[in-house]
Amino acid sequence: MIEVEHLTKRYGPRTAVQDVSFRVGKGEIVGFLGPNGAGKSTTLRMLTGFLAPSGGAIRIDGIDALAKPIEAKKRIGYMPEACPIYPEMRVREYLRYRAELKGVASRAIKERIEIALDQASVKEAGDRIIGQLSKGTRQRVGLADALVADPPILVLDEPTAGLDPNQIRQVRDLVRGLAGKKTVLVSTHILPEVESTCDRVVIIHRGRVVREGAPDQLRQAIAGGNVLVIEA
Ligand code: ATP
Repeated sequence: MIEVEHLTKRYGPRTAVQDVSFRVGKGEIVGFLGPNGAGKSTTLRMLTGFLAPSGGAIRIDGIDALAKPIEAKKRIGYMPEACPIYPEMRVREYLRYRAELKGVASRAIKERIEIALDQASVKEAGDRIIGQLSKGTRQRVGLADALVADPPILVLDEPTAGLDPNQIRQVRDLVRGLAGKKTVLVSTHILPEVESTCDRVVIIHRGRVVREGAPDQLRQAIAGGNVLVIEA
């Protein structure tokens, strides 16, 4: 579903992402774990078509994303680290605007909005003004936005950043609930978060993939001192 090969991004003399390769299979939930500045957002922005790589290949659902970026982008619901904020809009109004932007057929929009609100567990806020919502609720609106066009793939960039433990649990449960229905790549810098949510974890450090495997294997490796300790 997502295949990344030898992906590299250079900013002038600085290499932010170097020779990164990994795959996310259909229906899998994969955690992309690394400390701040490791290259997570840069990688996610490349594979969602918002940033041009310096080298490497990306295939989304078998499509060469660099050759056919628009087709590839349509298959991904992307929740960036800083979600677009329209504080004066109401949630349903915002999702309608986003659905239109993503090319959802006009006869399907109303239903798609209600399904996305349901999937993101944010229906009760549907008529509220975005600027008046808590950060946790706003994050769930961001998730509803990622879901509104019903893409087969979700790419979520640190969806729990800045949330309190209760809000983190809510978002984590929502992501877990997508298992089998969506293919999900979710970034974080917190190990316990991916342990309970993800089928597999890819660890990135200083722009390189340093390890990947099932969460319990990584826990053992970290305990055994075989891998870097990810600072929170
Ligand atoms: P964070 O959680 O802090 O966002 P991250 O793992 O997502 O961390 P990136 O944002 O991908 O990390 O950044 C990776 C590296 O690339 C960092 O050293 C960062 O300073 C650098 N970087 C990111 N964007 C740019 C840019 N536009 N110009 C120059 N360097 C950049």
